[in-house]
Amino acid sequence: ENGDQTKEPACFSSVIPGWFSEMSPMWPGEAHSLKVEKVLFQGKSDYQDVIVFQSATYGKVLVLDGVIQLTERDECAYQEMITHLPLCSIPNPKKVLVIGGGDGGVLREVARHASVEQIDMCEIDKMVVDVSKQFFPNVAIGFEDPRVNLVIGDGVAFLKNAAEGSYDAVIVDSSDPIGPAKELFEKPFFQSVARALRPGGVVCTQAESLWLHMDIIEDIVSNCREIFKGSVNYAWTSVPTYPRHVSLPLNIQSHGVIGFMLCSTEGPDVDFKNPVNPIDDSSSKSNGPLKFYNAEIHSAAFCLPSFAKKVIESK
Ligand code: SAM
Repeated sequence: ENGDQTKEPACFSSVIPGWFSEMSPMWPGEAHSLKVEKVLFQGKSDYQDVIVFQSATYGKVLVLDGVIQLTERDECAYQEMITHLPLCSIPNPKKVLVIGGGDGGVLREVARHASVEQIDMCEIDKMVVDVSKQFFPNVAIGFEDPRVNLVIGDGVAFLKNAAEGSYDAVIVDSSDPIGPAKELFEKPFFQSVARALRPGGVVCTQAESLWLHMDIIEDIVSNCREIFKGSVNYAWTSVPTYPRHVSLPLNIQSHGVIGFMLCSTEGPDVDFKNPVNPIDDSSSKSNGPLKFYNAEIHSAAFCLPSFAKKVIESK
């Protein structure tokens, strides 16, 4: 436990020594705290503050600008769902682009698909890649796949220069729309994604929490309906350490959720709710077994609570 409060960044709680509290203008009036056993890395890149700490109950934790990006205990839920919801919805994906995803977890999951021949990644911050390789080897294993081409740069610029119709799938594994990822939630970016996808190509983006961000989700859905003429769907999953809806008393928290926008361009029909392309189990040996994703949870991810269904279907 790092008892010296003076050296620790603001997100390390001064109220409860030895605890990390995740506070953000993205979820005002709430905070999620994890007990810290040891701070393993603190750095500041050209884009964001980067912290890694050993938590008491969630393994090692990666934090960017004070927001939890992944923990060893529950990263499987997010990485597997954001990857297999799109890739299991189309037959034989071959060329995949990952925007963000600097921890390597999405690459690890894309690599399970034997049909994939090329995996391009554009991650803006090399420090995230280096830190993940050092502290999260089971996540960063994705970088070892020979099909991966890593570009360090801004995903917005990368997509602007991408050849038209060149990808079967784009996965936008971004941080929140505050800081370097802001433009990844805006219309021009979605337009450049649609242009880079082949007819019937698919995109899956990190799309916040329906408990906390219906306003952001509304805007994203409106933009996507205008831009993607195939299908537009919102799915969600449970990730305990993602933005959460805290019920009182404070120490009892409904576990966190995270959502995904899944869209396809005009062309061959894509029915996201019924996966057509099961994961090639033989490839899972090198990256360990799937811990979260399966065909049933794939279909269930598109079942929404009424308050969200009403908003999303009205756009
Ligand atoms: N699992 C996390 C979540 O749910 O928010 C996201 C993980 S991943 C660490 C997010 C990555 O997006 C970070 O490595 C960050 O550097 C990267 N990123 C943010 N803005 C970017 C941009 N404009 N272009 C490319 N990568 C970006």
